Amino acid sequence: MAHRTPILAGNWKMHKNHLEAIQVVQQLAYRLEDRDYEHAEIAVCPPFTALRSIQTLIQGDDLKLQLGAQDCHWEDQGAFTGEVSPPMLAELDVAYVVVGHSERRELFGEDDATVNAKARAVLTHGMRPIVCVGETLEQREAGEAEGVVRRQLDGSLAGITAEQMAEVVVAYEPVWAIGTGKTALPSDADEMCGAIRTRIAEQYGQAVADGLRIQYGGSVKPGNVKDLMGQEHVDGALVGGASLDPEDFAVLCSYHRL
Ligand code: PEP
Repeated sequence: MAHRTPILAGNWKMHKNHLEAIQVVQQLAYRLEDRDYEHAEIAVCPPFTALRSIQTLIQGDDLKLQLGAQDCHWEDQGAFTGEVSPPMLAELDVAYVVVGHSERRELFGEDDATVNAKARAVLTHGMRPIVCVGETLEQREAGEAEGVVRRQLDGSLAGITAEQMAEVVVAYEPVWAIGTGKTALPSDADEMCGAIRTRIAEQYGQAVADGLRIQYGGSVKPGNVKDLMGQEHVDGALVGGASLDPEDFAVLCSYHRL
């Protein structure tokens, strides 16, 4: 099996002002100090307003954390009131950008074409997109989950080259498991992550698929992380709620020791 470095990313959503964000990262860094977490990449994705503060903290204290953003526009600049561009994020040493989170898709009307434009722009500026896909409960109950995820994947990754795929992370996040406390069974998460890998193999070849990191997201907590991360095709987690608690997130980051 190909070696894939797991990636755990904390998506803080619209929580924490820049002062609170500094405290969370300081507390996280303190808790990570005596834990064995360097088997994985760890990223924190605070709101835009905290990126600069966290960048400074990471650099100043030489923390082994990556900085992530939760979204971006696809253009470099222009008359797009309220938006933030990929080069602005790259300038802040942002390494990862979440694109196509289900909240963006559902609440802000983003479709696969939008997500694709954002993912490509992120890659163009030397950052890594975390491309989110996932089905709703209705779609799962109707037996459509795999087809929905495949369509999202195809649309969101259109035009991305095999070389660029090495920089892409896919996050499988069943919508019904996000922020609900309901977690997919580890076997279900693995089955879908495996189906994603198969689709990538069909389109890019086995070597690219074997190297692709696929996160699971949806109510990942200290109590379920080990089983989820133990699955063959699950290479990390996109974590919402539990990433706001430095103790919980530190435990998640050292899940292999649980
Ligand atoms: C998310 O927002 O990506 C997420 C997985 O949230 P939670 O962990 O709270 O379910």
